[in-house]
Amino acid sequence: MKTSHVSLLVGMMFAASPSLLLAQVDPKWEIHDRNRPNPPVVTPGTASTQDAPGKPPSDAIVLFDGKDMSQWVQKKDGSPAKWKVENGYFEVAPKTGDLRTKESFGDCQLHVEFREPDPPKGEDQDRGNSGVFLMGLYEIQVLDSYNSKTYADGQASAVYGQYPPLVNASRAPGQWQTYDIIWHGPRFDASGKLTRPAHVTVFQNGVLTQDNVEPTGPTGHHVRPPYEAGPDKLPLALQDHNHPVRYRNIWIRELN
Ligand code: MG
Repeated sequence: MKTSHVSLLVGMMFAASPSLLLAQVDPKWEIHDRNRPNPPVVTPGTASTQDAPGKPPSDAIVLFDGKDMSQWVQKKDGSPAKWKVENGYFEVAPKTGDLRTKESFGDCQLHVEFREPDPPKGEDQDRGNSGVFLMGLYEIQVLDSYNSKTYADGQASAVYGQYPPLVNASRAPGQWQTYDIIWHGPRFDASGKLTRPAHVTVFQNGVLTQDNVEPTGPTGHHVRPPYEAGPDKLPLALQDHNHPVRYRNIWIRELN
């Protein structure tokens, strides 16, 4: 088949399947073409330990370095963040409300570390509940799911109300845990029609818990609301669910 026919065919396939997020080999370059630009150099970060957070990669935007809350505000009204900063982390101040970033983010690689209250308190959903809300709308559940049972699509690492994690990779309360999230947000055309649902991949403590799943829409409680047209970027939010969950070492790399 001639190249033009191949690209036409590929074009048709993608037109017919707008939800596909597969990378394609760029036909502009020959195989092993030495004129092809090399990608940017990034100095990798270092791994976190229980005693100390690791270093973010050199091109990451640091959202919380253990001291500085200036990237965060109250989600409701944009006023200064009310959660308390202590000893290299910030902790949910119960009933003060969710936080959000000042900046908006869309497609990204996000690293978040959290620690469940020790000793644990409560059961089920009432045990170390918080959440990472991508674009402020789509929750990756934060919960103490270590030797603690709740409904599958509401445990730690769940796309809340939609996808249970593949495995329960939770550490014990009092231990620092990591989420590494790859997020591709939804896209809408000019008329507001969904052209591509969101996709999300999650690693909890280095273990794959969500493998490129497609959220059905924003997070709800006892409801799965449909997508609503909106911008490609929105602030990232963290949930106040009345439990003193701690966070540290939050960074993000935007994907273009
Ligand atoms: Mg939650």
